[in-house]
Amino acid sequence: MPLSPDLLAAVEAFAARPTLLVASDFDGALAPLVPDPRDSRPVEGGMETLAELAALPGVEVALVSGRSLRDLAELSGAPADFVLIGSHGTEDSRHPEGLALTEDQQGMLAVLDEELADLVEEHPGVWVEEKPAGRVVHTRRMDPVAGPAALDAAAALGARHTSLVSTPGKEVVELAVAHVGKGAALVDLADELAVDAVFYAGDDVTDEHAFAALAANDDEARSARRLTVRVGEGETAAQFRVEDEPHLVELFRTLTAARRAATQG
Ligand SMILES: [Mg+2]
Repeated sequence: MPLSPDLLAAVEAFAARPTLLVASDFDGALAPLVPDPRDSRPVEGGMETLAELAALPGVEVALVSGRSLRDLAELSGAPADFVLIGSHGTEDSRHPEGLALTEDQQGMLAVLDEELADLVEEHPGVWVEEKPAGRVVHTRRMDPVAGPAALDAAAALGARHTSLVSTPGKEVVELAVAHVGKGAALVDLADELAVDAVFYAGDDVTDEHAFAALAANDDEARSARRLTVRVGEGETAAQFRVEDEPHLVELFRTLTAARRAATQG
């Protein structure tokens, strides 16, 4: 099935914006889903077309995935000029040493460490794991009474600070100072690159967050110039839909040709 006339018109309009961020999910968008995720490979022509697009004036290309940065780089074979965002936004190829925290986030992390030191003193047996943007409170080695009490205390600590994102798990509570996710990561990247318009394609629930975040972007002009595409079936907040991975590649070919035409002469 060819791309719809509405989608083609949207691609033409998008290609004519001064500066573009063209971002895509990997698995299920650029690479067909396979039983063993380690066997995943980009669909024919996909990465080549995106590399051509990235070489055109005013275009930045990004891959945004739930995979670790390392897996994403290896499986996609993406060229060095692509921005790679891994682990749903907590890893970024431009910051291999880890994402820089804002001053507020660093301050919150210091407060968190102080309060967790008190918590550990009050609840012997708690183990605190350090992550770049947060701390994880583990109670696995504690008895069935002391463990849950320590988890309650950790959750209460999280609830006292609105800038902490508290994620409970089994015998574990994660307290993070940076809220992540594909949507936030993509909006941040667009802000940082100060592009006029953003394209995003994906096939899954986490991509729906990205579609919604781009639609609700505080930068209304950029939000109005977005182009979002759901790959495959399912309810979606995206503006358009393509049938499968090869159709997304066809869309990228069309976009590349349109961008080339728009930036020549
Ligand atoms: Mg996917």
